[in-house]
Amino acid sequence: MQLSKRVATLTPSSTLAITAKAKALKAEGHDVIGLGAGEPDFNTPSYIIEAAAASMREGHTKYTPSGGLPALKDAIIDKFKADQQIDYTHDEIMVGTGAKHVLYTLFQALLDEEDEVIIPTPYWVSYPEQVKLAGGKPVYVDGLEKNGFKITPEQLEQAVHSKTKAVIINSPSNPTGNMYTKEELKAIGETARKHNLLVVSDEIYEKLIYGEAVHYSIAQLSPELKEQTVVVNGVSKSHSMTGWRIGYAAGNKDLIKAMTSLASHSTSNPTASSQYGAIAAYTKDDGAVEHMRQAFEERLNRVYEKLVSLPGVECVKPKGAFYLFPNVKQAAADCGFANVDEWVSALLEEEKVAVVPGSGFGSPDNIRLSYATSLDVIEQALERMEQFITKHS
Ligand code: PLP
Repeated sequence: MQLSKRVATLTPSSTLAITAKAKALKAEGHDVIGLGAGEPDFNTPSYIIEAAAASMREGHTKYTPSGGLPALKDAIIDKFKADQQIDYTHDEIMVGTGAKHVLYTLFQALLDEEDEVIIPTPYWVSYPEQVKLAGGKPVYVDGLEKNGFKITPEQLEQAVHSKTKAVIINSPSNPTGNMYTKEELKAIGETARKHNLLVVSDEIYEKLIYGEAVHYSIAQLSPELKEQTVVVNGVSKSHSMTGWRIGYAAGNKDLIKAMTSLASHSTSNPTASSQYGAIAAYTKDDGAVEHMRQAFEERLNRVYEKLVSLPGVECVKPKGAFYLFPNVKQAAADCGFANVDEWVSALLEEEKVAVVPGSGFGSPDNIRLSYATSLDVIEQALERMEQFITKHS
């Protein structure tokens, strides 16, 4: 079969590859522990499920407006006002089938052939692929580990070319869990403004933050930065609604109109009942979101110390999301492996622990561990990892 040149350039998802290998081992009867999950392990709160079920019984089972129900846009507008004190209008909001597809639509609406998008490393695996699918060119800027994996305005400045159209900021970050401070965001935003770059601010992990961390949206820092920014967010991670596929973008009216038009020819609209569920999620919080956040924080605090006590393992403590992104280069070398990818494969083969190699996120010395699974499971995985390191050292 002769496939398109477009899909030939796609890199298979490293997250899915390790999950497939872990599943195959499990099917053979092995006791595999998977730390690859990219979704909360909680069920969707029941008040959301009830609202969606009621909407179907009431007959809301038909097409909706392509960019989302007016009532959902109202709920999103109120959320922005309450959380970030930003005022958006309906024509500045587009609801789509998950933040991933919203981002896909955004790059389709924004990019022409060869337009460049600056992507800080480590990055979420879909950004480069989505940029390439839109004909654009990903330009990587190293978020240095010693700077908490964040890029500086100077680095951004150096990466800008005449073809640069946008920069992606993902805070809290997948895979590192790190967050930009208000001051750092302001400086990045001002640099973006100077070069007229759109800031694509992926804030999907906004609600999962720990300790003293405070989340800021670059769009809330000044009216000019609001203009310069498109915020992407959704309910998948905050409300444990990954399967419902509701995400949204907030930004410039022309961009939102173009994205809505594209969606009208691709998805038609996000699933009606999911939109009713999302309205409930944003208007009837019963404490479930905070309960889940606390559970993640407890896990992080319990497992972090154990992780950094392992020989050859270093880890910047995350401030948000539900991932740890330790540097295991030394551990891999001490165990006699040529690189971290090989170390990860052997860990799965020998100890049946599945973690995601950092190479897929543009950081080959690191691995990503998800703590979106029970404490018992994570602790058992770390014990096996320790056993593995001891055995090979
Ligand atoms: N952005 C980041 C950084 C993510 O990690 C994910 C999901 O893994 C998404 C966006 C997509 O979320 P959604 O489930 O709403 O498509």
